[in-house]
This record gives sequence, structure tokens and C-alpha cells, in this order.
Amino acid sequence: MEILVVGGAGYIGSFVSRMLLAEGYRPTVLDNLSLGHRAALDPRIPLVTGDLADGGLLQRLFSDRRFDAVMHFAALASVAESVQAPLTYYRNNVANTLNLLAAMKNAGVARFIFSSSAAIFGTPERIPIDETHPARPINPYGRSKLMVEEILRDAAAAGDLQSVALRYFNAAGASPDGRMGEDHRCETHLIPLVLKAVLGGAKSGARLKVFGTDYPTPDGTCVRDYIHVSDLARAHLLAADYLSAGGASAAFNLGNGKGFSVMEVIRTAEKVTGRAVAFETADRRAGDPAVLVAAADRISRELGWQPAYPTLEAIIETAWKWHASHPDGYAASQTGPQD
Ligand code: UDP
Repeated sequence: MEILVVGGAGYIGSFVSRMLLAEGYRPTVLDNLSLGHRAALDPRIPLVTGDLADGGLLQRLFSDRRFDAVMHFAALASVAESVQAPLTYYRNNVANTLNLLAAMKNAGVARFIFSSSAAIFGTPERIPIDETHPARPINPYGRSKLMVEEILRDAAAAGDLQSVALRYFNAAGASPDGRMGEDHRCETHLIPLVLKAVLGGAKSGARLKVFGTDYPTPDGTCVRDYIHVSDLARAHLLAADYLSAGGASAAFNLGNGKGFSVMEVIRTAEKVTGRAVAFETADRRAGDPAVLVAAADRISRELGWQPAYPTLEAIIETAWKWHASHPDGYAASQTGPQD
């Protein structure tokens, strides 16, 4: 199966493109390398460097090669940044996705797998969050993801497209050999920051801030559902197979179904690393719901998805291997991990 992986040099996209290659699919990556890393890509995977805003490039790409499906990871994904720069978010996450969908339609490519987010649900009304939960996003990032889901539903109804939207909860972890992992230019995610705090000790800037200790949760800190990046990746391969077998358009929630508080993440990281996490308490971060936990029964039932890393400890173990051996991320490994 020929698959175009848009944003395939990013954190989740690079795991998916490698898994595709390893399992006999033929991935081609399109990435503008604004946030992705060339070094995260297997050198055997063709890389087209370019942007979804470039209609000419998309036209050439789709006429040069016959793709069976497109997976789309190329998005801006910071809630706080989306509040500051909503137009940038709508242009990148919605308008650019429309360009991609238009190029696919012109080329007669009808299968699409979309990276959606738990952010479409906004402040949850009930936990765990299943697919029947109302989608009322509370920030431009979440709205941009929901807008694309709505576009996909309309396109499916018009007979243009079959799609699967995967609503990720908290992606985390690294490859078990520690050679691929999370490397964001401006890191905001909890697990990498906890591990950086372990590595940096109490040095200034390395101390973790725990955002909010007065949430209505057992220990007062926010609860999230952490899912290993390889388990997320697996869901994309299952979705591609599902669509190629004629499966109807669908959206699935994707998490482990278990919630862990910020303090539980810190304690688990201390256990895994054998070192103390330097942290201090801070005010709540704007826009953080107290608890986000997925009900992932639907994707298990319909696509046969099961997590290989169901425990927080297993997820943090892989992340620790990566961060301990790559304190500067991919910067030191320009040629990328070799197989
Ligand atoms: N968090 C924290 N300190 C940090 C980063 C995150 O306390 O430096 C908390 C954050 O408030 C949230 C949880 O950790 O409750 C997970 O945040 P992250 O940014 O990793 O993912 P999100 O749930 O926002 O997608």
C-alpha cells in the first residue's frame, strides 16, 4: 500500500512512517521540516520537503505517484499558542488540510487518516470520554481539529472520501531502544519536562512547575490518559487496513483508558529513573480540564486495537531511555537512527 505521510518527520508521524516501512507498506513523507526532524526519518523513506500551502507541489506529488491513502500529522498543536495566534492555527490546521483534501480529490485518492485530538471535547461532562460525548472545544486548537472532522464528515456524505479520525489523548514515550523519541523545539509536555528536570537536577530552568494543586482530583493535580506513541502508530496502520477493506468513515478515541495525575507521573518517573524530580507548585495553566481519560472500547472492538504499553511505568521507561541518551534531542544525530 502506497501511503503519503504528511508531517511524517514529526514525533508521531516519524513513528508511523517507520512502522509502515517495517511492515511492508510503502510510505512517502511530505514535511516542511518546520517542526519535524530529518534525523527522525529512516533514510529509506522518500522525503518530499514542502508545505501544504503549496498547491503546485501537491499537484505534482499526486501526479508523480499513485497513493492508496494519506495520513495527516502536519499540524500546530499547542493550546496556549492557538489562543495567541488563532489565525495561524486555522490557516495551518484547517486551510492547509483543505488544500490537501482538494489535491487528493483531484487525484482520485479517497482514503484519509486524520490526527484529531481529545481537545475537541473541551471540558468533559463525564469520564471516561467515549465517542458519544459532546464535542465542544474550548480553544482554537481544539476547534481547528473539530472543524476538520466536520469537513471529513461532509466529504464522506458527498461520496468524496473515506476517513478515520483518531482523537489522541496524551501521546508519550519513545522507541524501546531509545533511538527515537519526543523532541519539540519548545517543550510543553509533562513527561519530557519531568525527565528533563531529572537530568537537569535543581539547576535553574530545569525545575518542573506543577500547574495547579487544587483540582477536584484525589491529589489535587490534573489527571491525564497517557498513551505510548507506538500504540498510537499501530492505530494508524489498523485504520489504513480498515479503510482499504471498505470500512465506513469513523472517528475513534485513542487512549489507554486509565488516568494518572501530575504527581503520579512525577512519582513514577522517580521510580523509573531512581532519581528525584526537582519541582515546585505553580498556578493552574489556563484551559486545562481537571481530568481527561478516554474510553477506547470502540477502536478495540472495531479495529482490534490493543495497547502494547498499557502502564505508565512502561511508557516512562522508554521515554527515559531516549531523554537520558539524547538530552539535546535529534540535534546530535544528524544521520538519524540506523536500523
Ligand atoms: N503540566 C504540568 N507542568 C508542566 C507541563 C504540564 O503540571 O510543565 C500538566 C498540565 O497542566 C496537564 C498535564 O501536565 O495537566 C499534561 O500536560 P501536557 O502539556 O503534557 O498535555 P495536555 O494534557 O495539555 O495535552
